[in-house]
Order: sequence, then C-alpha cells, then structure tokens
Amino acid sequence: MKRQEIMWNTLVKGFSFFFLTLLFFKTTFSQSQSNNHNLLLSMGLEKPNLVGKTQFLLPEAYNAFLKMSMKAKNEGIQLFIVSGYRSFEDQKSIWNRKFEKYKKEGIHDSIILAKMTEYSSIPGTSRHHWGTDFDWVDLAGGLKKNPLQDSNYIKGGKYAKAYNWMLANASEFGFYEVYNNNKKRLGFHYEPWHFTYLPLSKIKIQNLSALPVYQLLLKKDIRGIHLINQIYFESYIQKYLFGISDKIK
Ligand SMILES: [Zn+2]
Repeated sequence: MKRQEIMWNTLVKGFSFFFLTLLFFKTTFSQSQSNNHNLLLSMGLEKPNLVGKTQFLLPEAYNAFLKMSMKAKNEGIQLFIVSGYRSFEDQKSIWNRKFEKYKKEGIHDSIILAKMTEYSSIPGTSRHHWGTDFDWVDLAGGLKKNPLQDSNYIKGGKYAKAYNWMLANASEFGFYEVYNNNKKRLGFHYEPWHFTYLPLSKIKIQNLSALPVYQLLLKKDIRGIHLINQIYFESYIQKYLFGISDKIK
C-alpha cells in the first residue's frame, strides 16, 4: 500500500471513530435528559399538559373519563372528580400540615411516619402527580363534607350504587381501582374512591425508582425528612408505590 493511501485510511478511520463517539455521547445525553424529564413529571415537579374544569387530568385520561361519565349517566350516576392532578408543592403542603398537626398532638417520631402514610403519600411519590389518577364521588348521591370515606362506598352508602357500577364498567374505559379491599395488599388503606387510567399510569410508575427520587427529596424541605433514611425510603416505595391491586400490576 502506498504511503498516501495508508495516511488516507488512517484519517478516515480517525474521523469515523470521532463521529461515532460524538453520536454515542449525544444519544446518551438526550436519553438521560428525557429520563430526567420523565422523573420530574412523575414526581409532580414539572407540570404536564392538563385538561379539566375544576380538577385536571392528562387529555387522554380526561376524554376517557368523559366517555365513562356519559355511560354512567344513563344509569342515574353522576361521576364527579373531587381530586385529580396534584403538584409536588400541593402534596408537600398537605404532608407538612399533617405532620405539624400530629406533632402538636404529641405523637412520637417513632410512629409518626406510619400514621402519616396511612392515607398520605410522601411528596413526589403520589399517584396524583401523574394526571392519570383521581378521587371520585357520585353527585346523584350528594356531596357533603368529607365524602371520601369507606362507609359511603360500601353497602348502604350513598355512593355504593356508583361504586358497584365502577367495579363492573370502569375497565371498559381503561379505569381501575388502585387500593382495593384485599387484606393481603400492603401499603395504603382501602380507597374505593381512588381510580387510575391504566394505559398511562402503567408507564408513569416505571419512571420512579427509589434512589433518584430520594436524592431529590432531600433538597425539598419536607417535614420529617430527617426520619426517612434511604433504606426506609426504599422499603416505603416497595410497600406503598407497589402496594396496589393485582389487576393493575
Ligand atoms: Zn386519591
């Protein structure tokens, strides 16, 4: 091979290597950027596009909810969302207020987290951050103060007819109960009012892994964060985030 040819080959190889390396880093960088974006969205730290009147959901979930409501209406049920999307800051206010209340009642640090997490998520880990989940009532059954109680949804309750209808029909529209009444299920208490739009929420849950979420939480001025170490947080994620109905796993 001539000397010129050898030099030319070396040059071509060198450039190819350089551009391939550049492409690799560019792809890796944009992948990690989109992972980070998805993480922030799933933690309620970035706001997605939402639609709704008083409460908000992702457009696809909201449209499915409207379709479901129309069918329910024919049965005399008026589905109404009392709580849809919640930002990280919204959840933090709820969490911090509750924490202060328990502290004032003199509840000891050793049991305060267990009490807090009976119904409330650690900010950043609530399914309400996703725009896919909501708490509902049946306006035909009335809407009084504190409507979200088991007794309203089970036998004889004012939303019992609607709840049975939801269990039988919601899945046709993509909606499922999350915290069902299975005694073997870990995590949050039974919440017959909390439903999810599964086609989107099954993607959202995959964006949350314990360590990156925990690292962000440490910077967020959450009351009681000093009681939550990494090991506690990892087991919390296992128990509460994945303590959901078998039907949506
Ligand atoms: Zn809820």
